Amino acid sequence: MTSSVSNLQAVRQQIQHAEQQWKRHSDTVMLLAVSKTRSAAELETVIAQGQREFGENYLQEALEKQALLRNTKLIWHFIGSIQSNKTRLIAEHFDWVHSVERLKIATRLNEHRPSHLAPLNVLIQVNVSRESSKSGVLQHQLLSLTNEIRQLPNLRLRGIMGLPAPASEFAKQLEQCEILSKLFSQLKQSSEHIDTLSMGTSSDYEAAIAAGSTIVRIGTAIFGKRQPA
Ligand SMILES: *Cc1c(COP(=O)(O)O)cnc(C)c1O
Repeated sequence: MTSSVSNLQAVRQQIQHAEQQWKRHSDTVMLLAVSKTRSAAELETVIAQGQREFGENYLQEALEKQALLRNTKLIWHFIGSIQSNKTRLIAEHFDWVHSVERLKIATRLNEHRPSHLAPLNVLIQVNVSRESSKSGVLQHQLLSLTNEIRQLPNLRLRGIMGLPAPASEFAKQLEQCEILSKLFSQLKQSSEHIDTLSMGTSSDYEAAIAAGSTIVRIGTAIFGKRQPA
């Protein structure tokens, strides 16, 4: 068994275990396999285990893999930062975008979403840790961007994405994750059709699930350590 297969099984078990332990309904946390820097062949090993949802950060790299894997029905999530000259291809080739943080980008995605496809599912990336290196809108900007995106007919706003500040202790991770989950609850109350909180990576997904995440984005824990770019 290749290690990504056993890793995938272990991550699936951990997710199930965390759902039970934290009184989440079963199968309410979706596993997004983050496949940046991995080859199409590496994706195929987890596809053979039933994995269908993949997250990519770099457009050209993603398009190449999508072409190689086009015979399998996969669901592609764009999770990287978005330059405005990339919005057409993203709108044409992805099912979800987690990293919307500006109205200009949302407007372009809306314009470029082909009419024969369902509306593009989008999440607003929120910056909760306020470190200058992190992207995302600040908490006080979230509601206005939400209201603007809700006017765009070819986008379907589903919720928010965030990267909680890294912490090694579980209790600290939980505290960071709860900042995002509180924002998510507020958004759900003020807006219809909000059902998705994309939160948690290899190092903190259990805390993310405890705090209410509905999509965990896992790369390293499935595929191993990434080679530095
Ligand atoms: C790379 C990446 C991940 C996956 O991180 P791992 O630590 O490898 O699990 C998750 N989310 C985003 C936005 C990423 O860029």
